[in-house]
Formats: sequence, structure tokens, C-alpha cells
Amino acid sequence: MSTFLAGKKGLVIGIANEHSIAWGCAKAFHEAGAEVAVTYLNEKAAPYVCPLAEQINAPIILPLDVRDDAQAEALFDAIKTKWGKLDFLLHAIAFAPQKDLQGRVVDASRAGFLEAMDISCYSFIHLSHLAEPLMKDGGCLLTTTYYGGEKVIEHYGLMGPVKSALEGAVKYLAAELGAKNIRVNALSPGPIATRAAGGIAHFDELLALARQKTPGHENISIDGVGAYARFLVSDDARLVTGSIAYIDAGYNIIAG
Ligand code: NAD
Repeated sequence: MSTFLAGKKGLVIGIANEHSIAWGCAKAFHEAGAEVAVTYLNEKAAPYVCPLAEQINAPIILPLDVRDDAQAEALFDAIKTKWGKLDFLLHAIAFAPQKDLQGRVVDASRAGFLEAMDISCYSFIHLSHLAEPLMKDGGCLLTTTYYGGEKVIEHYGLMGPVKSALEGAVKYLAAELGAKNIRVNALSPGPIATRAAGGIAHFDELLALARQKTPGHENISIDGVGAYARFLVSDDARLVTGSIAYIDAGYNIIAG
């Protein structure tokens, strides 16, 4: 345990299981001395998420499906009552219906596109809106994107334009909230075998390609992402805002 984040209160959204990027980050925040509130998607997810939340002594463990505004408001009410403030928020969620995700973008259904945008992009805007009044001393809003939002990556499909929109939102939120000392950034990890990643066709090929292309020929771990997230939510990163923070072992610098 370190005291790097001692006294900080953070909210982590996106733990599904012990392979989740959000779990790698939650562990890192906790180990650095932060108190961490945790959400789970629904009753089906609770048996996987709650034991992990208990491992890091999460004082708040509540359900959150980001399509449910009342649940989101209840979550922020609970944070206000318990802590009276919030220092950082990690948003590490994404969803697109399988049919739309695995097809061509040009064939995407309106309903599938809107659902993917709602859950994977708008939710970050809405959660930032709810967090703003609690970040009285400033804070950090952190989301998770992927290089497929910037360049076309085979099989990433509909999630590509959704991540582009999320990255655009990061920049606009950073500009709007900067005067309140609220920083807004996106982590951009290289491919990691998680449950969400399992929805992307040929994901094992993406992992192999990343290993082949990165300068050190390595893949990314959730602990590696956690270490970067811990820095980004800390006061040491006070001059970092509006950025797409690659944690991809250098994949993005290699052409082709
Ligand atoms: P994961 O499956 O562990 O996490 C995805 C989470 O999204 C789950 O906890 C799930 O419950 C949550 N979620 C889905 N719909 C939701 C809803 N309606 N309301 C609330 N939560 C909902 O997978 P992960 O890879 O850890 O994904 C986390 C984030 O990281 C995603 O934004 C993903 O796009 C991004 N990312 C993943 C990779 C990768 O290779 N795994 C790479 C770059 C970015």
C-alpha cells in the first residue's frame, strides 16, 4: 500500500469480473490509498463484482445500468451522503449489439447505433454532468477508448465511430470544465482479453498483431493500465487534460 492517493474518493464504473480493465484500475487506486465506490450492471453481475468490491473495501457498492437515469442519480446521492465530494471517476464501459458490432458500419441499424452511442459515449457525458457538482475541489474524469476510434481497425466496426465520438466528448468536456479544475482524459489501452473484447470478431488476431507490432513485442495487462490510471487521477497529472493517453506499448507509433 502507498499513500499516493490518500484522502481521494473515486468512483469506478465497469467492473464485470477480475479481467476487467476497471478492476485493474480499482485495485491500483485502492493500493494507492484512495477510497473507491464500485458499481455493478445488474443482479446477474452482482455475484462477480461484489466480492471484488469487498476485496478493496469499497464503502459504496451499487447497481448502475447507465440507461437508467434514476439509478445514476441514486448513485450520486449515495456518494454525496457518504463523502460529500468526489475526486475522480473512471468510466470503463462499452456495448454494441452483436449483430451491429460484427457487421459492416455501413449496414448498422439505427437502433444498434443509438444503443452503442448511448451506453458507450453519452453515458460518459451524463456521468460527468452528475459528478461536476461533487468535484468542488476539482477532479478527474477518466474514460476508456481504443485506437480503432482514430484509425480504421479491421473487425472493430461500429465501435470505431462510437469511440471517435467519445474522444471528441473528452476534448469538449475538458475545455468546458477546465475552469473548475476538473480534468477530463481518456485511457487508450492496447488490446486485452476481457469479456467485452470477446464480442469483437477475430480478437485473438488483434492480440497477436499487437504483440508483433509493438516495439517490445508485448501485450497490455490490466495492472499496466491501472498504473497509468492511478497517475492520471492524481494531483501529479494536474497539467494533463483533454488527452488520449495511450497505454498500448507503443502500437500507435508504428505505421502499417
Ligand atoms: P469488460 O467486459 O470487463 O467491461 C465492460 C463493462 O461494460 C462491463 O462491466 C459491463 O457491465 C459494462 N456495461 C455494459 N453495458 C452497460 C450498461 N448499460 N450500464 C453500465 N455498464 C455497462 O471489458 P473491458 O475490456 O474491461 O472494457 C472496458 C472499457 O475498455 C470499454 O470501454 C472498452 O471499449 C475499453 N477498451 C477495451 C480494450 C480491450 O482490448 N479490452 C481496449 C481498449 C479499450
